[in-house]
Amino acid sequence: MPNAATSAHPTETPALDAIIIGAGLSGMYQLHCLRDRLGLRAQVLEAADGVGGTWYWNRYPGARCDSESHSYCFQFSDELLKEWEWSERYPQQPEILRYMNFVADKLDLKRDIRFKTRVTGAEYDAARNVWHVSTDDGGRFTATYLITAVGCLSTANVPQIPGLESFAGKAYHTGLWPHEGVDFRGKRVAQIGTGSTGIQAAPVIAETAGHLTVFQRTANYSVPAHNAPLSPERKKELMDRIEETRRVMRSTPNGHPFQIVDRSVFDVSDEERRRIYEKQWEVGGLQFRAAFRDILLDKKANDTAAEFLKDKIRSIVKDPKTAAILADIDHPYAAKRPPIDSHYFETFNRDNVSLVDVRSDPIEAVTPTGIRLKSGAEHAVDIIVFATGFDAMTGSLIKLNIKGRDGLPLAKAWEAGPRNYLGIQVSGFPNMFTLTGPGSPSVLCNMPVPIEQHVEWVTDCIAHMRKNGIARIEAKPEAMDRWVAHVNDAAKATLLPEAHHSWYLGANVPGKPRVFMPYAGGMARFRDICNDVAAKGYEGFELTGAERQAAAE
Ligand code: NAP
Repeated sequence: MPNAATSAHPTETPALDAIIIGAGLSGMYQLHCLRDRLGLRAQVLEAADGVGGTWYWNRYPGARCDSESHSYCFQFSDELLKEWEWSERYPQQPEILRYMNFVADKLDLKRDIRFKTRVTGAEYDAARNVWHVSTDDGGRFTATYLITAVGCLSTANVPQIPGLESFAGKAYHTGLWPHEGVDFRGKRVAQIGTGSTGIQAAPVIAETAGHLTVFQRTANYSVPAHNAPLSPERKKELMDRIEETRRVMRSTPNGHPFQIVDRSVFDVSDEERRRIYEKQWEVGGLQFRAAFRDILLDKKANDTAAEFLKDKIRSIVKDPKTAAILADIDHPYAAKRPPIDSHYFETFNRDNVSLVDVRSDPIEAVTPTGIRLKSGAEHAVDIIVFATGFDAMTGSLIKLNIKGRDGLPLAKAWEAGPRNYLGIQVSGFPNMFTLTGPGSPSVLCNMPVPIEQHVEWVTDCIAHMRKNGIARIEAKPEAMDRWVAHVNDAAKATLLPEAHHSWYLGANVPGKPRVFMPYAGGMARFRDICNDVAAKGYEGFELTGAERQAAAE
């Protein structure tokens, strides 16, 4: 990695305008915008051997999107929307991967994506105002702009359980699932984790496993997805309503194609509220939380939804002891990312499924033959499935080994938690853009919406720079401080920080700073803020003209 001060190629012009790291939805769209709209030389570097990002890696049983299919796709092109047909209300992982390949082929993206290439380092060279990027295959790239498109949930969190290496069976993390699949037939399977992933996986694993034991640390709410094939009539209706759907998705706080009903939980009688919750339960999916505007704002309002959902668990699960463990939920509904499911609680009525509460009796060790709890209880298993989530939002960025001005590592800059401006730029890291970074609404939304907004904002910003002879853009430290404070305030205005074990807070990774990472102020508001910043000449950013940059060299 060349050192900024001793770079041996002071006159070399950058080989590329932009390097984009990652070929998921954000990296693909960023490539399209920079290459096909601005005419720039852009190169995507991707560790996998195909496009897809999260949908490339997460091939676990039951993997499916919790956003409805017609909203989980690019909206920027009517042509793409009209040429693709989803088969189900919630698309399965293979269908989403096919969709992403369809987009990549349609836009001819793959010729500028270097697959099987993992970025191992990136360093800003202040003298030349370029980024040097190195890869695991010995590659060296130089570009003016560095754009990370690494996703928010892409670094697997495998708990460091003593003895794991001694396990004689097979162990898999859901986010690194083998392409050939896993044969559970007749096997004793342990699943650790009951987040959105575990709740999707358990019912499918249980269908073939000899026995499935679910190890639950934090009990979780879930609402049925009511997934089903899309009928020809529904497909037509969705196609006819593209404009309306797009309008709704752009106006809602979470980018989903449904509005939050503007009424308080306490505007209606207990009976009426119950009826509304029943109706929402029948509608299913993430829409449940949209029944009232104050579910995520007022603890007492939230309690009504939480109690309804706990009652549902108790009514579905036949064994009262199992039901009690599943319904012993310690956080407000939707304060953690709310899962949706296909027969999750019903799965515990099967003879081949059991539940172990590892909150009261924690996992102490993995042994060659299974899992041992603190009490000494042993569970003999052949396969362990880690549905234990991710080092979310910051993990994949820090792993890139990025160094900004004066060799400042991003890991050091973010020692006490992520700090940036608009989720997109870090002071000390000029011309680096972090798509859907911490401090952006990203994971609190239907992801394609924040992805399109972030990519388009970055594209406009780069276009502005090139048109106006601006060589460098960098967030000002004071703008970053204000944004971090605003992100904190936005979270505090909701019940989100009350889920103390949440990955939103980094609480799932031992030693990670507890900072609420995503922006909870809503996608529509975020879009307005970003547009306003741009309209005011990129307020809060330091823009350096080419001449000043040259003088500094
Ligand atoms: P997660 O929400 O972080 O859940 C991880 C689970 O593993 C939790 O139940 C956690 O318990 C448990 N766990 C972690 N370490 C453990 C340990 N050492 N011992 C026992 N239990 C442990 O991860 P996820 O389910 O993979 O979901 C992550 C996010 O991915 C979701 O919130 C969602 O945003 C996204 N996702 C989306 C979809 C979709 O749309 N299709 C599907 C799946 C996931 P604690 O709660 O006690 O930490």
